[in-house]
Amino acid sequence: MSAEPKKAHNFIQNLIEDALAKGEHTGQVVTRFPPEPNGYLHVGHAKSICLNFGIADTFSGVCNLRFDDTNPEKESQEYIDAIKEDVKWLGYTWDGEVRYASDYFDALYLFAEELIERGKAYVCALTAEEMVEYRGTLTEPGKNSPYRDRPVEESLKLFREMRDGKFENGELVLRAKIDMASPNINMRDPILYRIRFAEHHQTGNKWCIYPMYDYTHPISDAMEGITHSLCTLEFEDHRPLYEWVLENITAPCEPRQIEFARLNLNYTITSKRKLKRLVDENLVDGWNDPRMPTISGMRRRGYTPESLRAFCDMIGVNKAGGTVDMGMLEFAIREDLNARSPRAMCVMRPLKVTLTNYPADKTETLSLPVHPQNPDMGQREVTWSQTLFIDREDFVEEAPRKWKRLAPDQAVRLRGGYVMTCKEVVRDASGEIVELRCEYDPATLGVNPEGYKPNGVIHWVSEADSVDCDINLYDRLFNHEFPDSDKEGDFLDHVNPQSLVVLKGARAEKGLATPLADLPYQFEREGYFFCDQELTAKAGKPVFNRTVTLRDSWGK
Ligand code: ATP
Ligand code: MG
Repeated sequence: MSAEPKKAHNFIQNLIEDALAKGEHTGQVVTRFPPEPNGYLHVGHAKSICLNFGIADTFSGVCNLRFDDTNPEKESQEYIDAIKEDVKWLGYTWDGEVRYASDYFDALYLFAEELIERGKAYVCALTAEEMVEYRGTLTEPGKNSPYRDRPVEESLKLFREMRDGKFENGELVLRAKIDMASPNINMRDPILYRIRFAEHHQTGNKWCIYPMYDYTHPISDAMEGITHSLCTLEFEDHRPLYEWVLENITAPCEPRQIEFARLNLNYTITSKRKLKRLVDENLVDGWNDPRMPTISGMRRRGYTPESLRAFCDMIGVNKAGGTVDMGMLEFAIREDLNARSPRAMCVMRPLKVTLTNYPADKTETLSLPVHPQNPDMGQREVTWSQTLFIDREDFVEEAPRKWKRLAPDQAVRLRGGYVMTCKEVVRDASGEIVELRCEYDPATLGVNPEGYKPNGVIHWVSEADSVDCDINLYDRLFNHEFPDSDKEGDFLDHVNPQSLVVLKGARAEKGLATPLADLPYQFEREGYFFCDQELTAKAGKPVFNRTVTLRDSWGK
């Protein structure tokens, strides 16, 4: 990571530098990344991870990983494991052990009793509907609950009975006593605890009451000595409540909440709940489908941690929000893969070419650079022989103007090989083109022919030593710039039917017979590809996922 360019300053970094300079902040900077384990992490979380761990790095502080696990019904160990793996893969190390908000359930409970004893919280028996009615609206104040002034002793007794399982789900809640007329609805006696008879992945059946996020978060932050609690803008209106909680308990410290804009990417959904629908409705092959904007999906597709971190750096951190163009994410991955990927030729839709003037029993070994801009990566060998394959799409019978590929009686150069001219088109009984008969020019290896100009350069492999493989051409999952924008429609209506095109029987140059794990390739003229280990093992031959095309074809 040290080789990466110095990160640009963001406003949060400036705030902290300022506070340090003025002596308002002393001691270590401690941040946390607090995912709820109710799904896999997505590209938006990558932004939050890079920010939280990045800030800690910048100030030689530490960052905790804390599972915000107060909704047991929606959470699972599978999600916890996946989230840990994703954070590690992105290149970050959390401080000490993984933490859980549920580690603090005992403390949270005692703080709640403390609030009750100090007249700052009460047990309320309004039904959910009544609660809505009493809450008021943005323009009208709410009304006090009839239970608001019940004696402290009574609330305390009921709260203990709630804990002991004496009431049903939803029968009672514990509420903060703040201000039902507050212009901020979050301050109108918010719920602190509710009854949920649900088994918890960490605490089992110990609890049947669970604390709410807005109550849990500030206390968890305080328990861990978090100094800067960075969260997305939708929590700005919750900040007064965050501060109220810390002011009204005997908090061990007072972290500062700072909000930043969440990442929105066009052509993408960044909501675990919605991504889960794609998985549940089998529209994708699981959370790590290479089309998913999840960190695990991007990993399987061939994105690198470096490219994701570079992307997060590029988009910066501010309060303004807006939508980032998917092209930017793709730019980041192209840049990274361009620098690191060995080149190879792979013919996606093979069309047989016979060189009628090349001996059937002859072969030649040709040498090509592994990377045209990086001689240190050395050379690779490919074999020239009488029977070759080119891509079906590199040949047309009626060449349009400016056609830079093969057509009858036209010459093209085969990359790293000779120039050849198409002399005859062979068809099968159904009329489909099955072979091109061509003549190569023996005087053209590495030099252009005298007297005529080849039409362009195309890629190829030889029949003799190319490798059979399958290709998954992935494209954007949604074909709508804002899949989520329909008022009545559904984002699922905008799944791009072309987001996965499977090509069987592609042929790659022989070096790819055993593609190395974790090595991305640039298939010349086609894009960046990454070997899918899982599918390769299943298919018994290499399966490559297209990470990204060489150029942006979605730009306007
Ligand atoms: P989702 O709606 O996808 O479930 P969330 O905000 O509920 O998102 P959490 O697991 O609570 O998901 O998020 C963990 C952290 O990541 C939070 O601090 C949250 O603010 C941040 N985060 C979530 N989505 C984004 C995003 N799109 N951009 C930046 N940060 C995000
Ligand atoms: Mg959430």
